[in-house]
Amino acid sequence: MIDLRSDTVTKPSAEMLEVMMNASVGDDVFGEDPTVNELEKYAANLFGKEAALYCSSGTQTNQIAINVHVQPGGEVICHKESHVYKYEGGGIAKNSGASVRLLDGNRGRISSEDVKNWINPENDVHFPLTQLVSIEDTANRGGGAIYNFEEIKKLRELCNQLNIPVHLDGARIFNALIENGIDYKTYGSQFDSISICLSKGLGAPIGSILLGDKDFIKKAHRVRKAFGGGMRQAGIIAGGGLYALKNNISRLKEDHNNAKNLEKTLSSCDWVESVIPVETNIVVTILKDSNKRDEVIEKLKAKNILTMPFGPGMIRMVTHLDVSENNIDQVCEALKYLF
Ligand SMILES: *Cc1c(COP(=O)(O)O)cnc(C)c1O
Repeated sequence: MIDLRSDTVTKPSAEMLEVMMNASVGDDVFGEDPTVNELEKYAANLFGKEAALYCSSGTQTNQIAINVHVQPGGEVICHKESHVYKYEGGGIAKNSGASVRLLDGNRGRISSEDVKNWINPENDVHFPLTQLVSIEDTANRGGGAIYNFEEIKKLRELCNQLNIPVHLDGARIFNALIENGIDYKTYGSQFDSISICLSKGLGAPIGSILLGDKDFIKKAHRVRKAFGGGMRQAGIIAGGGLYALKNNISRLKEDHNNAKNLEKTLSSCDWVESVIPVETNIVVTILKDSNKRDEVIEKLKAKNILTMPFGPGMIRMVTHLDVSENNIDQVCEALKYLF
């Protein structure tokens, strides 16, 4: 099977497993797991943050961040198709009792202008207090779109003036930074909190990390416990995460090249209306006949290629480290002769 449904399907390599098996462990709820501590320190350093917290998933890191930043009845501003809102089981309402202001944006991204218009006036009691702006880079629903860094800086400036924190859902932040070349620390300085996923393009089996200042992470620690996310000898999985951070970032370029090849072939298929311009590792195809979506998915599956429905008439393919250039050539052949 060539599995293009998501970059979460990667399996740990032999070398990664070796590191995991040999990881030193301790009780992480007591703060005594040396591998978790090393991973947290490494990730915090990478983005120039004071502290970090290793968690079981990106949903957990996002939800913890929201819970620390926002009070019940407060409001989070985010894109209408952002993961924090659309794909986290209603977590913002459920875990934090907060309201959301959903913006239309552009390919999953929101601008400082949009945000400015929707920040509620603090001294009018009608409105929920705007307490957080959350952005996603790269933006999944935008077909892996990368934020313009100038736009992020404007957003930061606006939020500084209003004293509103900014959270980054950076599930695929390494895919963005390998393309735009922005320095990690310069980028990291724009956010109060950052969630990074180790289990996506980086290929670790489990885990995400939340980054922020010491005070924020101290609060996040308590929330993680209350959410049932405190783990014990987590060094076994953290070892895979550390390996991923140290070894699997620069190779993301290959995934991006593979995605561009898919885009090229798809664009030439007469049953394809358009492909959202590929910027990273996500390829979203819009079909001419939206009723054919499931048929296309089934036909590809019959050729051992797995893809994902992505809304009406849309199919998503994601490239990752378990899909080779050869595999992509096979997929391109299959696509050319699908009908
Ligand atoms: C995958 C993903 C997450 C986190 O998902 P988990 O499966 O909970 O680790 C968060 N944000 C985005 C944009 C994602 O794609």
